[in-house]
Amino acid sequence: MKKEFAVIGLGRFGGSIVQYLSAHDYDVLAIDIDEERVSQFMNIASYAVVVDAMDELALKSLGIRNFDHVIVAIGENLNASILTTIILKELGVKNITVKAQSIYHEKILQKIGATQVVHPERDMGKRIAKQLISNNVFDYLDLSEEYSIMELIATDKIANKNLIDLNVRANYDLNIIGIKRDNQMNVSPIPTEKLRKGDLIFVIGHNDKIEAFQKREF
Ligand code: ATP
Repeated sequence: MKKEFAVIGLGRFGGSIVQYLSAHDYDVLAIDIDEERVSQFMNIASYAVVVDAMDELALKSLGIRNFDHVIVAIGENLNASILTTIILKELGVKNITVKAQSIYHEKILQKIGATQVVHPERDMGKRIAKQLISNNVFDYLDLSEEYSIMELIATDKIANKNLIDLNVRANYDLNIIGIKRDNQMNVSPIPTEKLRKGDLIFVIGHNDKIEAFQKREF
C-alpha cells in the first residue's frame, strides 16, 4: 500500500512538498490555518482543510494518527510548530518531520521527539556556499560529518585521463562510483575510457581526501 502523508503549513516549503507528493500520486492531506492558502491546494492535494494545528481535537478528528508520515512546515510561529509536534507525538503519529527555523528550535524539536528535523534554509545556504568555493562541485550529499558523495565537474586538466591513470583508490583512498555524461548515468565506467571535460564524476570518501583529489587533479 502507498504511504499516506499529511502536511501542516502550506507556505513555500510545505506547499512544495504537497505538490511533489501529489504529482507522484501519493495521498496527501493538506492543512493550514489560513483559508486562502488551503483553497490554493484544493485541486492539488487529495484533501485540503482549514485547521489550527494547535487544536488537538481537530487533529484527532482528522484521524491524523493513521497517516504514515506527518510534515510540520510551520516556520515563523515557534509556538505553533512546537505545540503541533507535541500533539502529534501524543496522538501517536509515528513519523514526524518538522521544519526548524533556528538551531534552538531544532534542539527543542529533537527533545520533544520529532523523528526528523529539517532546516532547509540553512542546508541550502551551505550547499550554495560549497558550490561557490569550488567551481568543480556540482552537488554533494553529506553521509556523515566527515564523509560525502561529491559530484565533480571534469575540467580540461582531468580530461583525457582514465580511471587507471587516476587510480583514486590507491592515490586518494576514494572510490569513483559513477560518471554522468550527456545526461546518461554510468555506474560501472570502463576503467580505460578517457574522461571528457564536463563529465560529472561521482566520488565517495573522506572530505579531506576529496579536497586533495580536487586540488591535484582539477
Ligand atoms: P515558508 O518559508 O515555507 O514559506 P515560513 O517559514 O515563512 O514558510 P510561515 O509562513 O510562518 O512559515 O508558515 C507556513 C504556513 O503555516 C502558513 O501558511 C501559515 O498559515 C501556516 N500556519 C501557521 N500557524 C499554523 C497553525 N497553528 N495551524 C496550521 N497552519 C499554520
